[in-house]
Amino acid sequence: MADVGQVDLHAHTTASDGVHSPREVVRMAKDAGLCGIAITDHDTLDGVAEAREEGEKIGILVVPGVEISTAIGGTDIHVLGYFVDERDKRFLERLRSQRETRAKRNGMVLAKLAALGIRITMEELVAVARSAGGKEGEEAALTIGRPHIAQVLVERGVVSSVREAFDGYLGAGGAAHVVPPRITPQEAVRWIREAGGKAVLAHPGLYGNDELVTGILSEGIDGLEAYHSEHSREQEERYAALAARFGLPVTAGSDFHGSRNGELLHGRVGDRRISAGILDRLRS
Ligand SMILES: [Zn+2]
Ligand SMILES: [Zn+2]
Repeated sequence: MADVGQVDLHAHTTASDGVHSPREVVRMAKDAGLCGIAITDHDTLDGVAEAREEGEKIGILVVPGVEISTAIGGTDIHVLGYFVDERDKRFLERLRSQRETRAKRNGMVLAKLAALGIRITMEELVAVARSAGGKEGEEAALTIGRPHIAQVLVERGVVSSVREAFDGYLGAGGAAHVVPPRITPQEAVRWIREAGGKAVLAHPGLYGNDELVTGILSEGIDGLEAYHSEHSREQEERYAALAARFGLPVTAGSDFHGSRNGELLHGRVGDRRISAGILDRLRS
């Protein structure tokens, strides 16, 4: 088979909680020797157009994507959507309702932090997001995520690293962790398919519950992100085998967000990559 090059199918930009603009992320894909990259911001397609424009300019394939937040039994589950129709009004409206849930979640986290004596205002968070090139106005509050809150906790000296902020406060089991009412993974799969896209279960190794993962695969989905920056080699082999058992294609993603306070969240662009041939398999 001809060498078609490699792609990284999971990256975030300033359209959600990434540090770099869509344009920059596409340039990084080029520098990393990739032939393509998927832009998969949380509950928004807003970074895709700029990324595609840059991709066309410098010869990098940009795969339109999104990462949808869902939950089941109190566990946050992320579902990646690829090749969705970016003009599908119903899908865009559904993503907007997801961003409103995110804003509500942020308010709940700030309330929990305040109860612990750590007072952070929404204005502060908007300022952090803005200084990283995020959006202005009403939309700004809808794109803020936990990494922004983590950054404030580090800047305040409450914790010494983003990792510590997640472990102690924001992540599962943390003192300010909240799980707002969320759609189920199956609902996200349905939304993505109704918008003409393909749904892939993101980073199965991060849920710490393979029974749950197997359940989601058996309900019907189009692929599994077996290769992820936070997965060990052993996990990657296990999830590739699990996907094969369900006849599903596997994908690879760095889950690049960029560095905050000198600390890299997940991986660098291209840290996980896979042959671009996977895109045909995913679409078929
Ligand atoms: Zn995720
Ligand atoms: Zn992600």
